[in-house]
Amino acid sequence: MRKLLSFGVVVATAAALVAPVLQAAPAAATGTNTTVVLTFDDGVASQSIARTVLNSHGMHGTFYVNGSHLGPPNYLGVPELLAMQSEGHEIGGHTLSHPNLTSIPRDQVVNEVCQDRTTLVGLGLQITDFAYPYGSGFNDDAVRQIVQGCGYNSARRANGLFSTAPECLNTGCNFPYADTNPPTDPYAVRTDFARLRRLFSYCPRLRWRISSSFNAAMRYWMRKLAGMAPDGS
Ligand SMILES: [Zn+2]
Repeated sequence: MRKLLSFGVVVATAAALVAPVLQAAPAAATGTNTTVVLTFDDGVASQSIARTVLNSHGMHGTFYVNGSHLGPPNYLGVPELLAMQSEGHEIGGHTLSHPNLTSIPRDQVVNEVCQDRTTLVGLGLQITDFAYPYGSGFNDDAVRQIVQGCGYNSARRANGLFSTAPECLNTGCNFPYADTNPPTDPYAVRTDFARLRRLFSYCPRLRWRISSSFNAAMRYWMRKLAGMAPDGS
């Protein structure tokens, strides 16, 4: 976790975000800073650029990967994931094959979520946090219970924060700018899917541009979040 003193903003991993919940810390001990968690889904190979940029800023991200989608040329490989973990990044679970968990039978949900975590743990990864593929399942009791039962401490949605999606440009779709800190519902952690999603999809040869976009986006967030109460109000 790296604190950006001038802004009172902390960049943390998903595991660090929910740690106060798990440790039952008193409310007064939390929420004194705004916490930003940078997360990357699907473990695609180009996210090695995100690793490089985060490392250059002394920051850590959370990378949610699929246990059936590992290795080059399309995905991050196990040696790279282990190296990232040793650098302080967090690797999280995202199911074996990325199905919509609300549209497959319950036994398949169990296999997708639990076997994925077992596979990743067996590779030497510390897997404690989950992201719902397509953001689906955070409001489905059966799915949530399976995620919790498989040993996950938290689960992240694919939206729920102020959205800049075209249909939400004027209203933000009535979502708040930030979740509570720590999250009220650790199995439905809100995120802003729209804001940063394109930053790491550029051609690797334009890495300087990605880095510059990343810096611009971080400055935007720091300014925006610095003026907010910890609960996002
Ligand atoms: Zn995904």
